[in-house]
Amino acid sequence: MAIKQTKFTLDEARIPRAWYNIVADLPVAPPPVLHPGTGQPVGPDDLAPLFPMALIGQEVSGEREIEIPEPVRQAYALYRPSPLFRAHRLEAALDTPAHIYYKYEGVSPAGSHKPNTAIAQAFFNKQEGVRRLATETGAGQWGSALAFAGALFGLEVKVYMVRVSYDQKPYRRILMETYGAEVVPSPSPTTNYGRQVLAETPDSPGSLGMAISEAVEDAATRDDTRYSLGSVLNHVLLHQTVIGLEAQEQMAMAGERPDVIIGCTGGGSNFSGLVFPFVGEKLRGEADYRVIAVEPEAAPSLTRGVYTYDFGDTGRMTPLVKMHTLGHDFVPEPIHAGGLRYHGMAPLVSLLKERGAIEAQAVHQRPTFEAGVQFARTEGIVPAPEAAHAIRVAVDEALAAKAEGRRRVILFNLSGHGHFDLSAYERHLAGTLEDYEYPAEKVAAALAALPRV
Ligand SMILES: *Cc1c(COP(=O)(O)O)cnc(C)c1O
Repeated sequence: MAIKQTKFTLDEARIPRAWYNIVADLPVAPPPVLHPGTGQPVGPDDLAPLFPMALIGQEVSGEREIEIPEPVRQAYALYRPSPLFRAHRLEAALDTPAHIYYKYEGVSPAGSHKPNTAIAQAFFNKQEGVRRLATETGAGQWGSALAFAGALFGLEVKVYMVRVSYDQKPYRRILMETYGAEVVPSPSPTTNYGRQVLAETPDSPGSLGMAISEAVEDAATRDDTRYSLGSVLNHVLLHQTVIGLEAQEQMAMAGERPDVIIGCTGGGSNFSGLVFPFVGEKLRGEADYRVIAVEPEAAPSLTRGVYTYDFGDTGRMTPLVKMHTLGHDFVPEPIHAGGLRYHGMAPLVSLLKERGAIEAQAVHQRPTFEAGVQFARTEGIVPAPEAAHAIRVAVDEALAAKAEGRRRVILFNLSGHGHFDLSAYERHLAGTLEDYEYPAEKVAAALAALPRV
């Protein structure tokens, strides 16, 4: 019997030499980013206190290809190219005629796709003489990616970690500290915004939106410090396209083209990283794909949010971006996929959704963990709860193919492993996980506080 090939690997020389910028292929220009005070389009000078010029340039670039500096490619080589797998055992368990492929980003030192941008951001900051980076983290995945990248390029990293996670998930904090980062629970007494929140709500559990406000304030008030964001922004999505560029080559090695491409969406970066190179083919009229963004029912910005200008943070310090939002005041329920608990969505993902180039689906926590456990028991990798959202819909697509008696080639992004999320799996196995219904009233209240532009 022939041995089935399950793993498609590329040589180090095949690490992409340029990131793919989807803006070059959009039929319309992306809406401008607005100044939070004046409501006018921001210029590079407005952003200079927060980001190095190289990243500001990438944020507004219309060039299709942006060269990846050699030191960044060398750091990528610690874990890239990442493998693409054919999920033969999952297919067999589902008894489906579908072919399921997944790109595995959990091979990075931090265990997720996030170092793809953390490395690039640390490099460009270092190159412009920045000494220190400030950032926020929810469950700790972004913080550990930036702490790792800071260690590689010799930058100090300060992480504002959402209070509930800081208290409940010590291992990610310890990982960040092991890489040399300083970690404080947010809201913290080290910023004006943090002190203001603590004065009003001493026992505040914090939120990603609050932690962003603290990190932005830190960077804006110190000359030696810049701010670093792990998702949402154009340059972050750009850096993640190494995922899809590699996957295109690996699908060619497998001799197949995907019919449907799936990723989970918190701020939209791992999804964009996988799908943008394929969506580019679609926008240029070279190929057609169904592309599905999967989000949690507890934070359904793409499926239930409003496409409008909003702040990226709770403290209303960030520029205004046009995106699908549930309102900057919206604090999602404490689902275990911490990386998906965000009120907004990347503007580029929102624009593609608005124009019908991609679809979106929202899924509940329990069926998501069921799919995650089925995946672990067939493919061997325990997925991050975020990534399990993509698996849920990949499995649903494979079951639909079976019901229709048709072949379907499915590709999804396995954005990270779940080794730091085992307490969530423990709850799932004990049957005590809850599903949160769509919080209609909370969203309505948060939408009422949208800025008027
Ligand atoms: C942070 C994270 C996400 C969500 O962020 P995106 O920017 O939407 O990709 C998804 N999966 C994993 C493993 C993460 O760490």
